[in-house]
Amino acid sequence: MKSIQHFVGGKPFAGTSTRTVPTYNPATGEQSGELSLASTADVRAAVEAAKAAFPDWAATTPLRRARILNKFLSIMEARIDEMAAVITAEHGKVHSDALGEIQRGMEVVEFATAAPQLLKSEYTENVGTGVDSYAIRQPLGVVAGITPFNFPAMVPMWMFPIALAAGNCFVLKPSERDPSASLLIAAWLKEAGLPDGVFNVVQGDKEAVDALLNDPDIEAVSFVGSTPIARYIYTTATANGKRCQALGGAKNHMIVMPDADMDQAADALMGAAFGSAGERCMAISVAVPVGDETADRLIDKLKPRIAALKVGPGTDPEADMGPLVTAAAFERVTGYIDSGVEEGAELVVDGRGLKLQGYENGYFVGATLFDKVTTDMKIYKEEIFGPVLSVARAKSYDEAAQWINDHEFGNGTAIFTRDGDAAREFAHKIKVGMVGVNVPIPVPMAFHSFGGWKASLFGDHHMHGPEGVRFYTRLKTITQRWPKGIRAGAEFSMPTMK
Ligand code: NAD
Repeated sequence: MKSIQHFVGGKPFAGTSTRTVPTYNPATGEQSGELSLASTADVRAAVEAAKAAFPDWAATTPLRRARILNKFLSIMEARIDEMAAVITAEHGKVHSDALGEIQRGMEVVEFATAAPQLLKSEYTENVGTGVDSYAIRQPLGVVAGITPFNFPAMVPMWMFPIALAAGNCFVLKPSERDPSASLLIAAWLKEAGLPDGVFNVVQGDKEAVDALLNDPDIEAVSFVGSTPIARYIYTTATANGKRCQALGGAKNHMIVMPDADMDQAADALMGAAFGSAGERCMAISVAVPVGDETADRLIDKLKPRIAALKVGPGTDPEADMGPLVTAAAFERVTGYIDSGVEEGAELVVDGRGLKLQGYENGYFVGATLFDKVTTDMKIYKEEIFGPVLSVARAKSYDEAAQWINDHEFGNGTAIFTRDGDAAREFAHKIKVGMVGVNVPIPVPMAFHSFGGWKASLFGDHHMHGPEGVRFYTRLKTITQRWPKGIRAGAEFSMPTMK
């Protein structure tokens, strides 16, 4: 049985805690490893290592820091398949999708390699006669990242590349469900030349998270996960005087207008609803066709596509979709399908009861389609985080947009239409952080910033891109005047502002 531990001060760290949890292979349901859960003292050891590394790392020139990140990129490129296999083994997603998430994470590293440019700041000559003013962005110190199971490589890479590029030291607390990718990241950063203690990993659960939230030497916390935990992290971290960005859950709607290219909309929905078994914060879980005729056409296009979708273990190159992450996720998602039926939604395709030969104990749920879902149903209001697509029929564009604006979450949304006026109105007025026009999953690129609105984000800064640089740096503005020096000869009277 593989024992999975922490990484502190540039080397694997066993910690002092005896608490452990199992990790599983979601395709087979078999235990794959035993994960150590950090105690408060273990977390403190990681923070101490980071704190000790900080002065030298902060004093390292941004160019040198960027060179290490560049080297890390080359290592990732060469071994991307190895990391993807580790992700598939613990998360369950198909190999090509794991490669995709690593690629999107590497783009943030690419962005961060521009550290010398990103950290440049403003200068004003002569704010007063002979007085100049300039602003600099300095690192915060030791910062922490707490990440979810669904992107074990990409979400940490939303955070640490920019934090490190800006001169901070980092403590990562990954999800206890798929912890191994974080250890590859730590080992490869070290191989790239990162000084010991600059990047540390503590495995753990609430105890480790609370230790980070209460540690006086943690200056900032970045969190991605479900909304109740995001709210807790934000409230606790900020009450303890820390900077915090906490990204939460989602319920992303896609409006399909009557003039949309229906094949394109159906193809887009297939990937957006069922890719990664729906375990993406930017997954589309509600399709909102405008008008009954549009809804009927859309469902006619979706049915054969769902029938053709291949579910299998993530290691099967033919599979479009793998299993859910855990037995608990399986129970939760099938429970939501039961509740949709009980509440009167029309179950068009039922993904329950799927059994794959040779993988009978895997956590597989097939693609599921509900029609005639209404806004009072639990399957509409709550995040299911599984391969379940609800079709909610709207009478008009205005009704569809109202539903989106009224929803608790505001992470991502999309509209499919050929009408520029409808698309522009949607993009400008909708109360959601990331908007797609004929693009189902509008994830901003690394050089823009990622984040939702409403209960999908607590805090003031989105992740990565320019917002990431602001989050991981503190602004200092210097106003300077030099007294007349050797150039003018000695001055014996009191200097005054002229
Ligand atoms: P989660 O909230 O269960 O866990 C996230 C992190 O919080 C993990 O590291 C976990 O160990 C820790 N945690 C869990 N319970 C805790 C507690 N009681 N106290 C302190 N820490 C705790 O989320 P998850 O199931 O791993 O991930 C799925 C969720 O993440 C979904 O809701 C999804 O929408 C969301 N998500 C959001 C985004 C985004 O950008 N908004 C991106 C990815 C995932």
